[in-house]
Amino acid sequence: MEFQFNGTCMEHQTMSSMSGWGRPVIAHELAHQWFGDKVTCGAWNDIWLNEGFATFGEHVANEKLLMNNTQFLTYLSGQKDFITSSPGGSVYVADSNLNSIGAIFSGRLSYSKGGYVLRMLKWILGDAAFYQAIQDYHSRPNLAYNYARTSDLNASLLLSTGKDFTGFFNDWIYGEGYPTYDIRWRQSPDQNLTFKVSQTQSSPTVSFYEMPLPVKVNGTGGQVAYLTLDNTSNNQYFLKSVSFPVASVQFNYEYQILEKNSTVTKDNTLSTASFDLDTFGLYPNPAKNELYLKGVDKPSEYTIYFIDGKLVTKDVYQPGKTINISKLIPGTYIFKINDKNIKFLKH
Ligand SMILES: [Zn+2]
Repeated sequence: MEFQFNGTCMEHQTMSSMSGWGRPVIAHELAHQWFGDKVTCGAWNDIWLNEGFATFGEHVANEKLLMNNTQFLTYLSGQKDFITSSPGGSVYVADSNLNSIGAIFSGRLSYSKGGYVLRMLKWILGDAAFYQAIQDYHSRPNLAYNYARTSDLNASLLLSTGKDFTGFFNDWIYGEGYPTYDIRWRQSPDQNLTFKVSQTQSSPTVSFYEMPLPVKVNGTGGQVAYLTLDNTSNNQYFLKSVSFPVASVQFNYEYQILEKNSTVTKDNTLSTASFDLDTFGLYPNPAKNELYLKGVDKPSEYTIYFIDGKLVTKDVYQPGKTINISKLIPGTYIFKINDKNIKFLKH
């Protein structure tokens, strides 16, 4: 909230000037003690490192101290509506906007969207890894009591989590806009749930938002299952198993991510065969020691045959686990699971 135009975007240290403001404002100003004062944005382009973090401080205060769950969800919904009230604009202040106070201190972008980007990082990482990463960020010797650029935060996140958020930053910090999702689902008689996820973007600056999608599945008897659809390509199919008849599917049920006007549709014409075509795969190929399988979500028996048809291995595939092929002699093999065959090369 402080406006000091002395060349860098410094916040007041130790004393926040507050008079008659509400508690979210106090939370915002308190958050600046760490984000703004201890770690200060290195250029006006990076003002979100102060104001987005301080706005996220308001999220936390609202969630933990000031609001009940319903009120907090209403608050998030309001933030989401405000951020997506316009299709463009980036959190990072472009050089061409550096002469505009309005662009630098954009309430929609530097404050609200910057704060929401942190909420999305929290969703992607989970609470423990997220808060550890944020603590690491403002404690790093090169950043604490110093200046940080947006790229420093990205580098710090990689060090803390081992995950490369460059694509995420390109979509959400440097890029503009938000996605709109079209989610279709169908439950087959064996209770498997097939999803098809399509996405459009509000701004041509982002070609695709890769994002784990939060989905809540409600059963006809009051059962609940929480699923994550790791959406990495358009028109992507997912197969998930639930153990109850499904009544409804809710998307973005705690406003974990930014999107607008998304739809969820029960679609009994959804082809389960195209799921196999789109997402079933074995990689890398050729492989040396390990194979990764995608598109199989339940433990399933698999077999590996030598190219001449001789059985080599029979085992049970565990979703998420790799398949060890280090003992196979180099050559061409057939991997068989659920009546599907894939040829692979071991070297
Ligand atoms: Zn502020």
